[in-house]
Amino acid sequence: MKEFEEILKNSSNWIKGIPASPGIFTGKAYIYTKEKLEIKHGEVNDVDEAIKSFKEAIQRSSYELNKIFGLAREKMGDQRASIFEAQLMILEDPQLINSIEQRIISERREPEFIVYEVFNKYLNVLYASTEPYMKERALDIDDIMQRLIRNLQKKRWVSRIQNDAIVVSKTLTPADTILFSRNNVKGYITEHGGLTSHAAIIARSLDIPAVLGAINSTSLIEDGSTIIIDGFHGYCFFNPSESQLKYFKTKQEKIRLTQKKMEGINSLPAVTTDGKEIKLFSNVDISGEIENVTSCGSEGIGLYRTEQLIEELGEFPDEEVQERIYSDLAAKIYPLNITIRAFDLGGDKTRLFHPHEANPFLGLRGVRFLLENEELFRMQIRAVLKASVNKNVKFMIPMISTISEVKKCNLIIKECMAELDSKGINYDSSIQTGIMIEVPAAAVMASSLAKETDFFSIGTNDLIQYLMAVDRGNDTVALLYQEFNPAVLMTLKFISEAAISNKLPFSICGEMAADPMAVPVLIGLGFESLSLSPSGIPVVKQIVRSLSYSKCVKLIKKLEKLESEKEILDTIEQFFITHKISRNNLIF
Ligand code: PEP
Ligand code: MG
Repeated sequence: MKEFEEILKNSSNWIKGIPASPGIFTGKAYIYTKEKLEIKHGEVNDVDEAIKSFKEAIQRSSYELNKIFGLAREKMGDQRASIFEAQLMILEDPQLINSIEQRIISERREPEFIVYEVFNKYLNVLYASTEPYMKERALDIDDIMQRLIRNLQKKRWVSRIQNDAIVVSKTLTPADTILFSRNNVKGYITEHGGLTSHAAIIARSLDIPAVLGAINSTSLIEDGSTIIIDGFHGYCFFNPSESQLKYFKTKQEKIRLTQKKMEGINSLPAVTTDGKEIKLFSNVDISGEIENVTSCGSEGIGLYRTEQLIEELGEFPDEEVQERIYSDLAAKIYPLNITIRAFDLGGDKTRLFHPHEANPFLGLRGVRFLLENEELFRMQIRAVLKASVNKNVKFMIPMISTISEVKKCNLIIKECMAELDSKGINYDSSIQTGIMIEVPAAAVMASSLAKETDFFSIGTNDLIQYLMAVDRGNDTVALLYQEFNPAVLMTLKFISEAAISNKLPFSICGEMAADPMAVPVLIGLGFESLSLSPSGIPVVKQIVRSLSYSKCVKLIKKLEKLESEKEILDTIEQFFITHKISRNNLIF
């Protein structure tokens, strides 16, 4: 990362945009300029002829969209391709067709003018919306209108693109994105469009790097010149220097090697042999780790430890800095989700503020610190809310011990929302906010807590430390730090049953989730979501794929009766042997 920062500092031949689809490629730019539509708005002499040509244009546009829909299904699967099905439905909407025809008849104006007017009525509403999502949908409607008008004017979509080019354009429609991909396009750079645009979604589905919102790219980049696109961080380098080319070549090679190692398993779902799907998320400590999240086949970020920011930055980040970092992470991971954890300050972590506690692990840590330093907490909440505009952010509170702490946090979050509302600032008003279960008191009260929150994330690192009364970092008592102690398993069972009976989503984000031995236990306990460090995901996924959920449930029945960690570990070991599941012969 340091080297990258140096490159940015020492050069100016780059443009920063939104990292919309990950990947790096060096290639030739293809500047794509769309022909500007000239709309004829005069009167027509023959209305029947005008209606006929409108009908033909609808037919031709449906034919084209159907072709693109077929191509999209082939390349991206049914679900993602449904974007084009939706476009087709709008185009063939009888009410829309009828209203245009009626206006052609009554106003005797050129059909292209009427189409332009009718569509623009909708477009203006969408463009005026403050919701980025609505603005993005406007691009889709605009695409249908342009297609229809082009067909009324009997023009064809033309492009003289060469294979392996990086397309640079002011905007890209979903259809452009799909059509260009036939020429093996290696990247998309646009001046407009955001993360939720269908062009971005398609680029991600097709695994083509994309940087959107790269202002002035069509004027700064020359057609046919060499450019580097870095879809991980949202940069494009034009006329790159030798050292820039070398840096990205090495980086690309690194990514290729990692991907090769993970090949095969990454694209497969984590599903048990009897069909239970387990969602695997990544824990992220440092923002730069995000590249590993997208390349390891995880479903998003299940834990982002924000207190690490203080280490990373060497100072406490203010609201603006936090907003930028959280927004950037949320953008990079989109459409996957990120769960941002409130600062877990205190304990053995950053102790900037209360360095003199005798027992820091039992002191002013996590939510206790946040409630004592409310302004700092509010600053973080506002930053998280502002980063949630694309609806892919969740928020969670660490170190909860009592119900009243949860209620206080919920109230503060509500007040922060009201504050943003009063300033007209956008955020996701239905953002999910959950709590960490990592203090035994919270585990015991799980059923009541479940009624006050949106999800549980179990922090076994701390839960085990507090349950067993062993300092998690103290070697001398390390033997007592027992993940598989019956007390730990029974506590996990208790929490999961409380969550299940309250229909509350629950997950685990402690290191235990990455322990291959724990995987059948967690699945047997009903966990459907695990969050662990990205490097552990392929191994855990491989194990999930070789387990049967019903057998894991039976395993729990056996483990429940045991009274020591050793017996439990022996029984799990035997389970792996009986079911011929190897833990050693995994992908690494
Ligand atoms: C945990 O306690 O398990 C956890 C995930 O949080 P941390 O390790 O950051 O305390
Ligand atoms: Mg913890």
